[in-house]
Amino acid sequence: MSYFVDKQGYYGNFGGAYIPEMLYPNVEELAQKYLTIMQETSFQKEFKDLLKDYVGRPTPLYFAKRLSKKYQTKIYLKREDLNHTGAHKINNTIGQILMAKKLGKNRIIAETGAGQHGVATATVCALMGIECIVYMGEVDIARQAPNVARMKMLGAKVIPALSGSRTLKDATNEAIRDWINNPVDTHYIIGSVVGPHPYPDMVARFQAIISEEIKKQLQEKEGTENPDYVIACVGGGSNAAGAFYHYLDNDNVKLIAVEAAGLGIHSGQSAATSVLGKEGIIHGSRTLLMQTEDGQITEPYSISAGLDYPGVGPLHAHLCQSKRAEFISITDDEAMKAGLELCKLEGIIPAIESSHALAVFNTKKFKSTDVVVLNLSGRGDKDLNTYINYFEF
Ligand SMILES: *Cc1c(COP(=O)(O)O)cnc(C)c1O
Repeated sequence: MSYFVDKQGYYGNFGGAYIPEMLYPNVEELAQKYLTIMQETSFQKEFKDLLKDYVGRPTPLYFAKRLSKKYQTKIYLKREDLNHTGAHKINNTIGQILMAKKLGKNRIIAETGAGQHGVATATVCALMGIECIVYMGEVDIARQAPNVARMKMLGAKVIPALSGSRTLKDATNEAIRDWINNPVDTHYIIGSVVGPHPYPDMVARFQAIISEEIKKQLQEKEGTENPDYVIACVGGGSNAAGAFYHYLDNDNVKLIAVEAAGLGIHSGQSAATSVLGKEGIIHGSRTLLMQTEDGQITEPYSISAGLDYPGVGPLHAHLCQSKRAEFISITDDEAMKAGLELCKLEGIIPAIESSHALAVFNTKKFKSTDVVVLNLSGRGDKDLNTYINYFEF
């Protein structure tokens, strides 16, 4: 069984490129060229140099002593929260802006829900002096004012999506419409391992720097490259794809993907795609997604904006169906408690997305000899208001 994308752009039964015919030339150009470009020495050098000097990589692999003591197992945190802009998303946007330059594109579009991917995209566009247009639902613009301000400060133009529920899905439609109308000069930066082939594979390869570093760092600390477990939260699945990537073919390393159960898996207010999802097509790929009997996409819910997504990328649908990864769903309450616990035990305020991964230690027992690496995808600064409202600080 392979966990890597095949020539047709599939992971087992999932993936592909289900797109309007008008988008074929853009997506096909990318599919033809991305691997060659990524393998060029000059591309690799520029990518690695920026990750080092601009993003601040390698991020530490930190042995969390007090957390380990509490759960009677050896826990390492991969500190993606220490990246510039506060999460792993910048790894991908750096990669894609370099890709856009190699493809000769001088205009960037992106869609964003909570604004985190919009900020990461606006950041790299400023870095390169490239025009940046971010589509965002009108409702999300109102809910996420600080991120809208950040994007504007970074020089991006934020265009409200005014149709439908005026959230992420509608912003995506607007971005696709823009790309159809501007096929020659524009690159569309997608923010997770979702979308038509080759996006899921390209984004996974940019994020794979996470597991590349874990291997080296664990070798130094434990005398082996391989932990017993890697744990990561899954919205679309990019930080998990990066943390899992170099372990996918090694069955000795168990993979745990953590989804948002919201108010409870069967509450009607969740984003637990692995349990509730059925096969269908979203954002141009065949994957698992939450939908009604007649195929309408169900509105997802999670307290964390980054996990509030009705599907998972096709790689994760395959990891789930093939049982290569264990999928665990964590409720809002479980995540918030685990996040606060990390603050008290280690002096680290995690993003609420990452808090979902942390909550696994309360639902699953590990052996005292197990080495567990948890990908701490982001920092909690952006979530301060949510923490304040929840705990009434
Ligand atoms: C966006 C985000 C996520 C979810 O996205 P993935 O593509 O699933 O990684 C998780 N954590 C943080 C901190 C985020 O900003």
